[in-house]
Amino acid sequence: MEKAKPRVVPAAELEKQREFAALLCEVLPERFDGAPRAFVRTFGCQGNEADSERIRGQLELCGFSFSKSPEEADFVLYNTCAVRGHAEDRALGNIGRLKQLRENREAMRIGICGCMVQQESVAQKLREQYPFIDLVFGTHAVHRLPELLYRLYTNEKRVYAVANSPGLLAEGLPLRRESGFKAWLPIMYGCDNFCTYCVVPLVRGRERSRAPEAVLAEARAILDSGAKEITLLGQNVNSYRAESADGSPWDFPRLLQALDALEGDYWLRFMTSHPKDCSPALLKTMANGRHIARHLHLPLQSGDDRVLREMHRGYTAAQYLSLAEQARALMPALSMTSDIIVGFPGETEEEFRKTLRLVERVEYTSLFTFIYSPREGTQAARMDDPVSHAEKVRRFQELTALQEKIAARRSAELLEQTLRVLCEGAGKRLAFAGRSESGKVIEFDAAAPRIGQFVRVKVTAAKNWLLDGAAVDD
Ligand code: SAH
Ligand code: SF4
Repeated sequence: MEKAKPRVVPAAELEKQREFAALLCEVLPERFDGAPRAFVRTFGCQGNEADSERIRGQLELCGFSFSKSPEEADFVLYNTCAVRGHAEDRALGNIGRLKQLRENREAMRIGICGCMVQQESVAQKLREQYPFIDLVFGTHAVHRLPELLYRLYTNEKRVYAVANSPGLLAEGLPLRRESGFKAWLPIMYGCDNFCTYCVVPLVRGRERSRAPEAVLAEARAILDSGAKEITLLGQNVNSYRAESADGSPWDFPRLLQALDALEGDYWLRFMTSHPKDCSPALLKTMANGRHIARHLHLPLQSGDDRVLREMHRGYTAAQYLSLAEQARALMPALSMTSDIIVGFPGETEEEFRKTLRLVERVEYTSLFTFIYSPREGTQAARMDDPVSHAEKVRRFQELTALQEKIAARRSAELLEQTLRVLCEGAGKRLAFAGRSESGKVIEFDAAAPRIGQFVRVKVTAAKNWLLDGAAVDD
């Protein structure tokens, strides 16, 4: 389907923001006797992590340095998630704890941003019940952070920027990445799918894809900086649609091929891939890729056709299974992971059992399982929901127990095999921890520090889903 061209933040607007940043660089050091320190904490998905990297980049441009804890910070910002009630409760609980800190430190300021505050009712609640929060801005105002901070630090009043919007694309924002070897690379924002349980389309705006030139330039810069893994982000990367400057159309497989052609030793990952738009062309691109990890995150949500229809997912259980089979036929070693919701309104025991059967058939490497959480403004929140919470918890436990058995079986198959692992840091049980191409965490011993490098690791023990190993090439 043809998509309207996304609205891009004009260069003049970004220039204005840079001017606000320059003004802050003059104002703030006088007030704080040096650079003020900021602390940004992220709740929720990788999309929020990527936003936080752009937020930190802008804070740096405004003259902030960074602290390791809220206690040492002059400005604390919580970037929040709205996808489930639990995520909101956690963010509010954490924010509540900052109140005392703020009372004892006159110059301290507190901000809250992200998906949660893009909901009108939440913004209002914060306004009325959280007077110690100084700055509130939604997902559509991230590129205006310098202006918002300038208003906060010069007018001393609470600043709110939570207007709803179909969404814009802001290119060229400064960035401060958390990791030197793993990078998030957003290729699109927003979502047009309106799954009936999901708040994302309401808080993230309409689907909009970045120009291929912008994505490729960012990927090149990431690889030039020495990174070993790029994860492409979007709510539904399979509906990536953009035009390059020469007017030629780009879809996700084309973008993936162009990224895969970049020189270097790296893994390319992507998420999330919506099953309804997952095409044979994408699977072929993955199978032929030089750098594309053989790992497909393909959210199932439910294994029952009635529930899938009520969820507005756009595929049947049989279509999903056939897709999984096609993918495995092309890539026998493919690792698949998924998201599943249990207790969607009206889900019967028999419908739930169909989910269990599908999970058994596909044999996922791992699963993200959630108990359905009603979200204000979504269609599902208005549906009858006769099943008790206790029953939903029971289903949840049955599903996670099944997945644990499958994961243990799949882990045991890896015993004695040698895997390529990206070393991510220190381990809890052994010296190092990393992830294999399939996304499995493995701890291992190695003679020399290997953080941020690929290491060949022989699997020496597989207990449940835990893997232990030893580096074999040093
Ligand atoms: N765009 C992605 C998912 C983003 S939200 C996709 O379509 O796959 C991540 C996951 O949170 C979803 O896949 C779903 O399993 C879960 N989720 C979303 N809304 C939820 C809700 N209201 N209750 C419980 N889980 C939910
Ligand atoms: Fe939510 Fe569905 Fe969009 Fe994913 S595809 S973000 S689950 S509405």
